[in-house]
Amino acid sequence: MNFCTDCGHTLVVRIPAGDTVSRFVCDECQTVHYQNPKLITGCITHWKGKILLCRRAIEPRVGSWTLPAGYMELGESLEQAALREVREETGAKIRLDSLYSVFDIEHIDHVYIIYRGVMLGPEIVVGSECSEVHLFEPAEIPWDNIYYPAIKELLLRYKDDLASNSFSLYAGTSEKGKIFRLEQGEP
Ligand SMILES: [Zn+2]
Repeated sequence: MNFCTDCGHTLVVRIPAGDTVSRFVCDECQTVHYQNPKLITGCITHWKGKILLCRRAIEPRVGSWTLPAGYMELGESLEQAALREVREETGAKIRLDSLYSVFDIEHIDHVYIIYRGVMLGPEIVVGSECSEVHLFEPAEIPWDNIYYPAIKELLLRYKDDLASNSFSLYAGTSEKGKIFRLEQGEP
């Protein structure tokens, strides 16, 4: 940030009184411009055991496969955002069943909140941010072309959970694929 969004004055970086972290501060109107992690939500879902993935048509990681997920917008609930992202990217109508994973990617300040759900029909449409949308048999998932380590880890867990029809809740702390089963507390 260079300029105050309230008054247009040049910003300085310093620790405001009573704070412990450097912030962008406007010394003209005294506004402190806080910056916090961004929230991404989406859903891991299936149709008759086939897992719904989409292939990115936009940066970053064009061509890699991932879950339908995206930034939460102002004024919507988490669940609304997850459903919207699935609809926009894949055209799928789904039902959310439960929270499935919460993890952060520290170095880019993103927090992911992923639900799990079930598709209500097999219809899919390739969204504008995707080059392909596909229902993968678990054995056919293109593991080498899933860039994000935490997403890959989550898909591996989901594949096993789906096979056993027994779902856990996972949390993680980095993009290195360290997704923990919460009730066990171990990777
Ligand atoms: Zn200002």
